[in-house]
Amino acid sequence: MLGQLGEAVRRAVAVASRPVALPMADDIAGAGGKAAPAFGAGAKGVRPAFIGFAIERRQYVDREKSRFKPTPLGSAVSDLLTEHFSNIMDMGFTAGMESKLDSVAAGEQDWVEMLKEFFGPFDKAVGETIEKAERVDRKKLVQKSDEKCEGGDDLVIRSGRYGKFLACGRFPECRVSISTRPSERATGEVKENWEIAWKTAMEKCAIVHPEAAAAAAAEAEAKRGLRRKSAKKKSAAKKSKTKV
Ligand SMILES: [Zn+2]
Repeated sequence: MLGQLGEAVRRAVAVASRPVALPMADDIAGAGGKAAPAFGAGAKGVRPAFIGFAIERRQYVDREKSRFKPTPLGSAVSDLLTEHFSNIMDMGFTAGMESKLDSVAAGEQDWVEMLKEFFGPFDKAVGETIEKAERVDRKKLVQKSDEKCEGGDDLVIRSGRYGKFLACGRFPECRVSISTRPSERATGEVKENWEIAWKTAMEKCAIVHPEAAAAAAAEAEAKRGLRRKSAKKKSAAKKSKTKV
């Protein structure tokens, strides 16, 4: 356990000391920057710009006129963390941790003991949460958009592994999906390519082009079947390996 802890700390230090291109602090307006002074003395080490950068990249917030607005995904994550990690979600936790780190730096406290104190209960809470926490209803993570599918249904914003995209609200019946519209400032190739992609996507609308939509659905189903097969093969291979 201590070996693991040492390794985790070593990695954290390596990550923390790696140079990263951070957005300018005053580029990040809104909650991150403004709320920080209220967290207490411990927040002095908190980098609002870095936090802003991270929560935006993870799609927990949208930037609206240089202010942060939580996305449904952000709210769901925050609710889950508040419910299961209330001690860490408390602003006082950061302040307390900072002062403990200060006392470690000053040689007043043993860092192994200090981390053990934190890591034991934290590790336990992670295990319990994985076991007990209810899965978030994916429908709740959907965001409205101003765009419409060719058949008249609303297109909604979904979050995927590669970022946000628009999808028909009539999914899975209608499988229209496309990346979000480029910003109004976008010109030339970016805009043209998106318009071509939009046209291609709409050719699969279940309302206007039912045949193309059925073909697209069959293709998606076949792909899923293939993935399932290869997953089965992999797990079978794993099992036979572990037997030997
Ligand atoms: Zn549609």
